[in-house]
Amino acid sequence: MNIDIDIIEKIMFSVVFFLYGIVIGSFLNVLILRTPIKESITFKRSHCMSCGHTLAWYDLFPLFSYLFLGGKCRYCKEHISWQYPLVEGLNGILYVILFLVHGISIETILYCLCTSALISLSVIDARTREIPIGFNIFILLLGLIRLLTDLSHWSQYVIGFFAVSGFLLLIGIITSFFYEGGAMGGGDMKLMAAAGLLLGWKLNIVAFLIGCILGSVIHLTIMAIKKADRTLSFGPYLSAGIYIAMIWGEQLVSWYLSMWAFESLH
Ligand SMILES: [Zn+2]
Repeated sequence: MNIDIDIIEKIMFSVVFFLYGIVIGSFLNVLILRTPIKESITFKRSHCMSCGHTLAWYDLFPLFSYLFLGGKCRYCKEHISWQYPLVEGLNGILYVILFLVHGISIETILYCLCTSALISLSVIDARTREIPIGFNIFILLLGLIRLLTDLSHWSQYVIGFFAVSGFLLLIGIITSFFYEGGAMGGGDMKLMAAAGLLLGWKLNIVAFLIGCILGSVIHLTIMAIKKADRTLSFGPYLSAGIYIAMIWGEQLVSWYLSMWAFESLH
């Protein structure tokens, strides 16, 4: 699937992936802003959040407009949220890393699109504690494409759909007897089902374990410092886990299996 490319082509493709990444990243900012309040995504012109001035095309260059304007609105000089360049830049960088790891392949395209969905749902989940269903459906569709383009491994993906999500469903049912609403959100379960169809069951388990480790370490740290409340938006941590599994999942799985192989020799 991967095309062998030399270093100059690699750099050129990296630039292309980065540019695609920041352009799609600026669309993600629109999604993040407007999805929770159900504002029309396509029909309304972009405007300054502070003065309401409609933005011109030259104000809308991803990342570069922000840097050029020094992070301020051209019209009212109000500071623009650093979330915009952060989402754009992050989307661009994560695209480049996926390209460098997986080359030019269907996998790379699907993983890039999934990454964009993960960034958006993470920001929304952190703010509203809810993952809009649309993002999970989108990742599910990417998973279906993966399944259809890699039919010889279909069982990996189908098992992936049920492996972690079934476990979370069980935890949700058990804990719902003790807490109102249970310990796991339905959005998290649907995310792991959709991601499982895209990643296959091995990488999905890796993704979930990394998400749990990151979630407990980081959330406990935040709780200790800021006295934050105990409810946890799990979406961002699961998303980080899914991305890490896309990049290093295969290595982590074979490292883990080789440890067992080594153990069994003794
Ligand atoms: Zn303004």
